Amino acid sequence: MADLPRCRRPGWDDIDRWASIVARKVLAAEAVPETIVGLTRGGWVPSRILADRLGVRRLVSLRAQHWGVTATPDGVASLTEGLSGPVDGHTVLIVDDITDTGESLALAAKHVLAAGPARVETATLLHIGRSSFVPTYFAEEIPRDAWAWIVFPWNYWEDLRSLAARAAAETPGIDAVRRTLLERCGLDVPREDLAWIGRTVALGRDPS
Ligand code: AMP
Repeated sequence: MADLPRCRRPGWDDIDRWASIVARKVLAAEAVPETIVGLTRGGWVPSRILADRLGVRRLVSLRAQHWGVTATPDGVASLTEGLSGPVDGHTVLIVDDITDTGESLALAAKHVLAAGPARVETATLLHIGRSSFVPTYFAEEIPRDAWAWIVFPWNYWEDLRSLAARAAAETPGIDAVRRTLLERCGLDVPREDLAWIGRTVALGRDPS
């Protein structure tokens, strides 16, 4: 059987609500940073939204890689591109979308600390209870036994492409893939979205 994880698909309203919760916590702690470090790729959009919310103009990036294609861990977490700008002497907030194992954020925090900042804190929108690293700020905790792959809006097409290809290997055809994604992943995907995916990924034919 194909590896098809349970998924949750938050919308932009959820993202906005979570970002607002995190921003409030940062403000309450009087910890608005001088620089936000956005972890690529998952932390890019949240870091830009938080920078906007908090009035932080300096945003730099750091690339961490851990998970390969959707919901498939890709060995140990590693930093594959360094900080895009200096952070020495700065108060820094490192931002990612979610902590799952926590390895990426732990590694990023260590890397940023070694660059000589005045303070380093971390923030994510979501935090899974099993994570070995607890961010300084997060909006919602997902209990470890409620683990799901979160299909964030900035990952939708990438996740759909990989999940649909896996489903098609088992049940070919757009309608069959659609049913499989609903039953196994809990994802209700519009038919036209799968038709779009089918332009670049072979989904096979529905039995006529
Ligand atoms: P981790 O090192 O396991 O904490 O996860 C690193 C990155 O992988 C996160 O920043 C996400 O971009 C992605 N990721 C890990 N687990 C999930 C999940 N359950 N849902 C969506 N994205 C995830």
